[in-house]
Amino acid sequence: MIREELIVAVCNDVSGQTRGKGFPASEREKRFKTGVGWVPTNVQITCFNTIADSIYGSLDDLILVPDESTEVRVDFEDDHPVEHFVIGDILHLDGAPWECCTRALAKKALASLEEETGLTLLSTFEQEFFYSGADCETWCGFGLNSFRGGARFGETLIAALTAANIKPDTFLAEYGPGQFEATLSPTPGIRSADECIILRELARSTATRLGERVSFSPLVTPEAVGNGVHIHFSFLDKNETPVTYDENSATGMSRLAGQFCAGVLTYMPAITAFTAPSVISYERLVPHRWSAAYNNLALRDREAGLRVCPASNVGGTPIDSQFNIEYRPADATGSPYLQIAALVSAGLQGIREGLDQPLPTTGDLSRLSEAELKKLNTRRLPTTLEAALREMEAEPQIRSWFSENFVDIYLKHKRKEIDTVNHLQPGEVFRKYIALY
Ligand code: GLU
Ligand code: MG
Repeated sequence: MIREELIVAVCNDVSGQTRGKGFPASEREKRFKTGVGWVPTNVQITCFNTIADSIYGSLDDLILVPDESTEVRVDFEDDHPVEHFVIGDILHLDGAPWECCTRALAKKALASLEEETGLTLLSTFEQEFFYSGADCETWCGFGLNSFRGGARFGETLIAALTAANIKPDTFLAEYGPGQFEATLSPTPGIRSADECIILRELARSTATRLGERVSFSPLVTPEAVGNGVHIHFSFLDKNETPVTYDENSATGMSRLAGQFCAGVLTYMPAITAFTAPSVISYERLVPHRWSAAYNNLALRDREAGLRVCPASNVGGTPIDSQFNIEYRPADATGSPYLQIAALVSAGLQGIREGLDQPLPTTGDLSRLSEAELKKLNTRRLPTTLEAALREMEAEPQIRSWFSENFVDIYLKHKRKEIDTVNHLQPGEVFRKYIALY
């Protein structure tokens, strides 16, 4: 059969879905300049393919313009079409960024951080997912034999990432039966969010080619181990020197890193509406799931909202270039661009306000009363998507970081998602999210 290669220009929108339009590869040069047409109301297409109320209606036009630095062309050398896509920015016809372009919102937050503090965010998204080709019956968490069951998938994924100019870090059989994890080296600025999307899409493409499926859904059954997205971050100054670590501070964090984390903790209950934004996300964010259930910071504790990660003297890498903090109440139903936009805006707010460096908590917070938690300056994160949306809606700062329109659009979008879930049978909810993410 005859075939002509297609390139798809894509965005990752408020539903966390990657959507776009294809064009012949022969038109690459022209389309990389002019982009493809995009429709404002697309922002209101939920993950369930329902459409929330849109202020744009059927009106107006935008363009989705590829950013060449994100171009992925992977020839898997099988009989499937070459994987060729490029992430773009959604612009008005005059070239101005569109208020609901998630990538523009992340870039704006990163630029404000850089302008106001001189800091560049260095980050990476650690992602967990289920792979249908694994043998769950004989599963052994972190086991070599379980790894073997996913090794064909893993090796192909790693080769695809490398072909896409991404530096893989690790690939492993996680604790949950059928669960794997892939990590990437940290990258500065917007690139980590781009790579988060590229990894997810290449994992899907790899699985499809092997006749299998992957799901990054935060929870595949109510009892299963969750799929987390953990955002590791640290900072570089203008000379690209790491500035997150201070050996003289109690947490190991520098003054600016401490203020940034204090801002993130202050706004964490509200920004979970962006970072863990599905109905089922809140069944993962409960104590004893090794996810995150409180807006606390702790040293090397996998139940903390912010975890100060370990740095080691073994191997000779200086501590200050290993030192990083991990944001844990995030999952793959959220757009990594909105996750970065929310995380950086909250952290920058902490720096602006000169907040005190947070004191690390210790022990199991679920054993403490509300009053005891209050003394530790921490509280339970919202327990439903609606509760998170209400926290977000009531937080005036959020309207100052994003636009008024964007916040209202986001609330309508997510409430439509809740409404759609309310019309599903209980068993169907998990199945739908598995299929969609
Ligand atoms: N699966 C856990 C989560 O839902 C994370 C386990 C880990 O620390 O790797 O976040
Ligand atoms: Mg893990």
